[in-house]
Amino acid sequence: MTLLEKTATELLADLAAGRLSSAELVRACLEQIERHDGAVHAFLRVDSERALAQAKAIDERRARGDKLGPLGGLPVAIKDLLCDRDELCTCGSRMLENFRPPYDAAVIEKIKAADGVLLGRTNLDEFAMGGSTENSAFGPTCNPWDTTRIAGGSSGGAAACVAARMVPLSIGTDTGGSIRQPAGLCGVTGLKPTYGRVSRYGLVAFASSLDQIGPLAQSAEDAALLLEVIAGHDPRDSTSVPKEVPAYSKSVNKPLAGLRLGIAREHFAAGLDAEVERAVREAIKVYQSLGAKVVDISLPHGKYGVACYYVIAPSEASSNLARYDGVHYGHRTDVRIMSEALEAERAALEHGSAGRAAAEAAVAQLDTPLVRMYRQSRAEGFGPEVKRRIMLGTYALSAGYYDAYYLKALKVRRLIRQDYDTAFKDVDLIVGPVTSTPAFKIGEKSDDPLAMYLVDLYTVSANLAGVGGIVVPCGQSNGLPIGLQLQAPPFEEERLLRAAAMYQRETDWHRRAPTLA
Ligand code: GLN
Repeated sequence: MTLLEKTATELLADLAAGRLSSAELVRACLEQIERHDGAVHAFLRVDSERALAQAKAIDERRARGDKLGPLGGLPVAIKDLLCDRDELCTCGSRMLENFRPPYDAAVIEKIKAADGVLLGRTNLDEFAMGGSTENSAFGPTCNPWDTTRIAGGSSGGAAACVAARMVPLSIGTDTGGSIRQPAGLCGVTGLKPTYGRVSRYGLVAFASSLDQIGPLAQSAEDAALLLEVIAGHDPRDSTSVPKEVPAYSKSVNKPLAGLRLGIAREHFAAGLDAEVERAVREAIKVYQSLGAKVVDISLPHGKYGVACYYVIAPSEASSNLARYDGVHYGHRTDVRIMSEALEAERAALEHGSAGRAAAEAAVAQLDTPLVRMYRQSRAEGFGPEVKRRIMLGTYALSAGYYDAYYLKALKVRRLIRQDYDTAFKDVDLIVGPVTSTPAFKIGEKSDDPLAMYLVDLYTVSANLAGVGGIVVPCGQSNGLPIGLQLQAPPFEEERLLRAAAMYQRETDWHRRAPTLA
């Protein structure tokens, strides 16, 4: 086995025993990135100097006999959506291409304090809006198993870098599936914690009632290690919950006896790829062979999840993204060329149809230099999907539509949560697919936003309900990974991790790595 095929847990043992130094490990990661990231594009930026300096400092402390933190010199990659005072934080957007945050996110502080090495910043859909990383302003991430295919998203870079064995651990975020979906499509383990489990202080907000930060890794054991570091209450994020953090890394290998697994009939409906269904059902059999009982359940409102999510998430996004106006934050248009652009726009309006007259009147009303600058800055800084979300959200929140869309979506959200509450009276975990097909081709759904949104069918409900979920690789179809999703009641991450580890002791899907050219 080569060095980077080892799991974080195995590497940590090597580091602790002095068989490996953190600097050696970081250099191996940098070489792997150098060799393969041209084809994969998991990273937006790699800070090799800083990573090597951090690694050397940790090695020196180890040599002196200091007690090291739980990450003990392991490299970690960070989705380019979390603030780190020493790095740019682009959010995959032209808008924040040059944004250098003035402070560290809570998760960054914790990784540093735990002696993790910050290796680099991973690619994502712009502001985490998307499911394929094709919405990154800096080009898509390719799936390491087949570089003509998407890596999933929005944490596509975070999943691909672990799959390509460029780094043992990475941090992603999940608003509607963005950790679990790319984990499934890239064949790695990814955990979305319960809403409130991990502090979002310093996370650039997409949809604040849904966003959570979580780990991606090769195994549940590794995810436990990283979750234990990043979880916990933080007074700077008022939605983080003051609950003790269990010692996930200690309990992860304890099997669960008498497990009751819920299979939702809605998860195996039309549209589910036959190979995906086969792999998921095989995985369930593995659990049965370990003594788990299978219970048929129903999540009847899940079918409204995508519609509900695509009202709530854009509504919150339209509000969160108001701050990018070129003054408070973000790209500011070149004021000289702006007036030329405005002239051109005016000319276009003059020659347009009658319907344009009304638009022109509205524009004229707002046509002050300041508003012109806002408009032009935002027009230049945001990509098409972000603009679409801002428009959808603004519409759903506007007077006259608020009740019909936003308020209605909130009510549906409550029903989705109630489905979970009911189901969890009878079962310990809900088990099913994470996506209905393996990774699709880059470009395949680019012209069809609705088709792209429907990819989120199996993931958005957990965010709407606030529950946690983990994805583990459970098979392959034509060489492409298939993921299994487990969902648990709120704050039962320990159960998710233990159940995932039980499966990974019986199978080796999580140990398979793609052959990179
Ligand atoms: N694919 C979903 C979306 O486009 C989820 C994104 C996420 O979880 N950040 O909104």
